[in-house]
Amino acid sequence: MDTILVVNAGSSSVKFQVFGVDVNGALQRLIKGQIDGIGTKPRLVAEASDKSSLVNKPYAPDMIPDVPAAIAAVAGWLRETQTFNLVAVGHRVVHGGPEYDRPVAIDHAVVANLDRYVSLAPLHQPNNLAPIRTLLTARPELLQVACFDTAFHRGHSTIADHFAIPENLYAEGVRRYGFHGLSYEYVAERLREIAPARATGRVIVAHLGSGASMCALANGRSVESTMGFTALDGIPMGTRPGQLDPGVVLYLLTEKGMSPAALQDLLYRDSGLKGLSGISNDMRDLESNSDPKAAFAVDYFVYRVGLNAGMLAAALGGLDAFVFTAGIGENSATIRARIAEKLTWFGVAFDAAANAAGEPLISRPESRVALYVVPTDEELMIARHTLALLPKRSARGMAGERLAS
Ligand code: ADP
Repeated sequence: MDTILVVNAGSSSVKFQVFGVDVNGALQRLIKGQIDGIGTKPRLVAEASDKSSLVNKPYAPDMIPDVPAAIAAVAGWLRETQTFNLVAVGHRVVHGGPEYDRPVAIDHAVVANLDRYVSLAPLHQPNNLAPIRTLLTARPELLQVACFDTAFHRGHSTIADHFAIPENLYAEGVRRYGFHGLSYEYVAERLREIAPARATGRVIVAHLGSGASMCALANGRSVESTMGFTALDGIPMGTRPGQLDPGVVLYLLTEKGMSPAALQDLLYRDSGLKGLSGISNDMRDLESNSDPKAAFAVDYFVYRVGLNAGMLAAALGGLDAFVFTAGIGENSATIRARIAEKLTWFGVAFDAAANAAGEPLISRPESRVALYVVPTDEELMIARHTLALLPKRSARGMAGERLAS
């Protein structure tokens, strides 16, 4: 069977999925796996579509010290244990800069362009590019597609795209990009299926995972995001602060003598829910902890999501639907209920029973603003984009799969 490999290379993990392309051109998820603990406690795990385990293998830290080594281990395992015809690889790439507003087939020129955006996303972009380079050398004939977290937001108005700083900085790329675009694109498509009338209106999607942001959609298109130049802005996250007065950064640099590296650690690894609670970056730990500091971190998170909902509704000129997605949004009925309470003034009539039962629609029929829970699937979105760029030869009868772009 023709297959597409989807690669999502992060700072300490490489996630991958294998999708089959059936004779009708429809995608089927075959394998889902990851190597995490790169450089510390590497472990390869993978499961089949029926959730049965395919591998669960630890490695010595020096065997998988970095992302390229992890990619080599995944590729080796796939080669040794699986027999399918790999026709393309789709990559999640965090930054497409001002240039890329859609997925792109990768060649050396594209890699050179994407290299320029390393300084815009120093923690993510090099790891995203590492497997691309490895495969470009090892399998130069193989189609590789870069799918960007920023691309879905590139249609923002110039006003939404700007910071109020001198224009030469905008010209060199210091802009409000927005991230989690693959998730929002997927959710926008699902909403069109679940609630077609609402999907054409004014919608806020809250992607609440360990990274978290919110997006304003008008007729399915992104018009505003809580994230900006980097994935630090907006609502608080597991370990990132969200919106922060830049004066705080100046204070830490000048008055506290913090080095840029220490500041980077503080902002990317030690802030957010972890920094506020001093207990954990994981919402599950905080919800089950009776320490008042855990409760405070949760209160803060809920408060800021509510605050940002007001901001995004202003960008949309009103609100027709609000959607929860990602780890917290999909799984925590308590946090959803608490955020819904903050949305009461919009005309939300919350359906507590539907929420507790894990229903997709969690507002009552009379609710002016409908509330939904829509599980996201960024990897499927990447596979769809990759399929769309496959030459027609391999993608027989592609009409069977709804294509995203
Ligand atoms: P990412 O993809 O950014 O790593 P996820 O979307 O997987 O993040 O979300 C991970 C977060 O979701 C976890 O850190 C945890 O806080 C939260 N989460 C997952 N399940 C639950 C749950 N049942 N209740 C509360 N929070 C949850």
